[in-house]
Amino acid sequence: MLREANASHVELTLAAAEWQRLQEAAGARATLLARDATAHYARRAAAAGRALAEQRRPGVGEAPGRRLASGSMGGFLTLSEAYAELERLRSEHPTLLTELPTQGKSRQGRPLRVWCATAGLGECTRASARPAVLYTSLVHAREPQTLMCLLRFLQVTLDSAARDADSQAARLVQSRKLLLVPVANPDGYEWNRAHSPRGGGMRRKNGLKTCGRESGDGVDLNRNFGHKWAHDSIGSSGSGCSEEYRGTAAFSEPETQAIRALVKEHRPAATLHWHGWGEDLAFPFSYDWRAKLSVADLSAYQEFALEMTARNGYASGRAWEVVGYTTNGEADDWGWGDEGVYSFTLEVGNSRDGFWPAPSRIAPIAEQSVYAATYLLAAAGAQLQVHGVSLSGASSGGSSGSLVLSLQNNGLAHILTHRSVCVRADEASTSLAASPASEAGGAARWSHQDGRGLCTPLPPLKARASHSLPPLAASWSRAERFFSLSLLVGEPRRRSLEASELEGRREAAQEGGLAPASRSRSLGQLGHPAALPAAAELAVTAMKVRVSTDDRTATTCNEECLCSVGEAAVYTLAAECRDKTRRGATCRAPLRASTGTNYASGKADEFFVWQPGAYREGGVCRVSSTTRDTLIAVYATCSRVGAQEPLGFSNSEGHTATVDFPCVAGREYHLFWNAEYMPGRHAFTLSERCDGGRCLRATGRRSLSIVAPRWVRFRDRKKKQRA
Ligand SMILES: [Zn+2]
Repeated sequence: MLREANASHVELTLAAAEWQRLQEAAGARATLLARDATAHYARRAAAAGRALAEQRRPGVGEAPGRRLASGSMGGFLTLSEAYAELERLRSEHPTLLTELPTQGKSRQGRPLRVWCATAGLGECTRASARPAVLYTSLVHAREPQTLMCLLRFLQVTLDSAARDADSQAARLVQSRKLLLVPVANPDGYEWNRAHSPRGGGMRRKNGLKTCGRESGDGVDLNRNFGHKWAHDSIGSSGSGCSEEYRGTAAFSEPETQAIRALVKEHRPAATLHWHGWGEDLAFPFSYDWRAKLSVADLSAYQEFALEMTARNGYASGRAWEVVGYTTNGEADDWGWGDEGVYSFTLEVGNSRDGFWPAPSRIAPIAEQSVYAATYLLAAAGAQLQVHGVSLSGASSGGSSGSLVLSLQNNGLAHILTHRSVCVRADEASTSLAASPASEAGGAARWSHQDGRGLCTPLPPLKARASHSLPPLAASWSRAERFFSLSLLVGEPRRRSLEASELEGRREAAQEGGLAPASRSRSLGQLGHPAALPAAAELAVTAMKVRVSTDDRTATTCNEECLCSVGEAAVYTLAAECRDKTRRGATCRAPLRASTGTNYASGKADEFFVWQPGAYREGGVCRVSSTTRDTLIAVYATCSRVGAQEPLGFSNSEGHTATVDFPCVAGREYHLFWNAEYMPGRHAFTLSERCDGGRCLRATGRRSLSIVAPRWVRFRDRKKKQRA
C-alpha cells in the first residue's frame, strides 16, 4: 500500500511479493529503505525512546492535563497493559465507565472484552434511549496506534466530564452512550508481542491457522463482515496465506461475531473503527464505486466527515475515493448496508509513521482523533449547529445590512419540541433589530427579552433538517474588523420526563425514527421502541457567530463564506473564509479543465470542472491519464458538502487510467484526481466522441436543422431505390 506523496518520491510498506511486482513493473524506480519492517520499527522505537527519556517533556501537540499512558512495546501498551489502563480508568470514574459481559472468546480462547461509558451505568446493560456510538480499535493487530487513539479519546472524555459539569463532555456522557472494543483482535496482537516484544510486529490477521506457516496465518477480520462478503477478489482474497484472506464465510470468526452481536444488542446510531494509516476518514461503500448512496445519505456522510476532519485536516470520502481501491467484507459496508448504522473508518498516522509510529508521535496522533470521535458522539443524538449566515443589502458605507442566520439539526435524532433561540450582539457598537422585511412576512418574528436579546421560536427539527431564522437588521462599527453575536437556544417548555419521553417516542414513530427521513427502513430495522431517543438531548446550546465587517463580506458572502474550524461552536463569516480555500481542494472551488491536454499538479488531490461542448445527445466523454498509477473519478454534481453521483472511476495500477462516461454539451462535470499515487505534475487529456448510435451535435439549432433532414432524405432515397 502506498500513500504519502511529495515532489520526488513516495515511501511504502510492501509484502515481499508486492516488492517483486513493483520491481518488475515498467518504469518503476524503487529503492529498498528497510528490508525488515519489524526490525525497522523496533530500531526506530528504541532510538526514539532514548531521545525522549533525555528530553523529558510532553510530546509536541499533546493537550494539557493528564498524559496518555506509555507502554512497554515501543511506547505502545501490550494487551495486559491496555486492560490494566482501562481498569485504572474504571476505578477513577466508577460512575461513568463499566465493563460489559465479554462477547465470547477469540479463536485462541482470549475473552473479547467490551466497555461502556455513560452517566448512570444502568443505561449500559441494555438498549437504552440514549443514542450510542460503537468504537473499535486493533481490528488489525499491527495497528497499535488505534488503541492509543481510543484510550486517549476515552480518557479526555471521562476526565473532562468529571472535572467540569458544564463541559461538552459532561453533556455527552449524560445523554449518549459509548461502547468500546479496544482490542478487537487480541490473538493477533498477542502474536505480535510474543514475536516482537519491543514493537514492530507485522501480524495483521487473527489467530486462526489458515496458511500452513505461522507468519501467514489468520483471517483478515476487516474482510469478514457480512455485506457483499466475497463480492469479488479485488481487495479481499480466498487464499488462506493472503494478508486479505476473508475467511470461509461471512462472520466465520468469533471476533467479527462479537461486533455483530454488540450492534444487534445495543443498536448504536454510529460506529467508528480506528485503523492505521493514511490520515483519512472513509465511509461506505467500499465494495464497488457504483454502489449507490442516496443524495441525502451521501450528503449526511460528507457533512459529518467534513466536520469530523475539521481539526486534523484528514482527507475524507467514500473508501475508494480516499484509499484509492475497492474492497469487500469490510466493517463500514456491513454497518451501513445491513444495519443502517452510520459507519466510519478513521485511518490515523501518515506514511512516515507507518504501522508502528515512533514513541514521540503516539500522543500527537492520538490527539488528532479526539475531536473526530467526540463529534460523532454528539452527532449520534440531536445537535444544533449554525448552518448558514448571509449578510446582504449593506449600505454604501458598509456598516449595516440584513442578516439571516440558519440553524441545522446536524445530528441523527429528531428535535421534537419547540424551542426558542435568542440572539444578542456582544459589543455595544453593534445593534440588532427585527428587520422590517421579517415583520411584514408575518408568522415567525423576533421579540425582545430582557437579558437575552432578540428571541424567536425554533420549530421542531427533524434529523438533518435546517431552519432559517427571520432576517435581522444589523448595524456595526466600521472601526472594528469583526462584530460578534451570541446565540442561545432556550430550554423546551417544562414538563415531566415521562410525559416528554412518551410524546417523544410517539412523535419519533410518526416522523420516522432515528435516522434521516430518506432512510425509511431505519425505524423498522431499529425494531424496539427503546432505541428511540429522548426528546431533549441537545449537545450544543450556545453558539457564537463572528462577522467580518469587510465590505466584501456584506456584498458577496453567503454560507460559502462560513468557516467553523477552530473553537467549537464559533462560526466566522468572512470573504477570507472562501478565499483561503485552495483552488481544486473541493468540487466547490474547482480548477478549470478544457478539451485537450490539461495538467494536474501531483502535489495534492485536485478537483477540476469541465464543460464539454460537442454533443447534445449520444456523446461520450473520455478522461485519460498519460501517467500510470493514477486515480480518476468523474461526478455529475457537486453539492454544498462534496461531489455526488459518480459517473466513472478508475484506479490504475501499473498502467494509465481511462474513464468514459455519457456526457451532454454545456453541462459541468467534476473530475477528481488523487495525487497520492504518482507524485509530480502530470498530463491528462479530455475528449468527446459520438457513441456510434444517434448523436445530436450541439452546434446550434440552425446547423442541426440543415444537417439532419439532409441525412434523413439521403437515407430515404437509398431505401426507396432498394425497394
Ligand atoms: Zn487496518
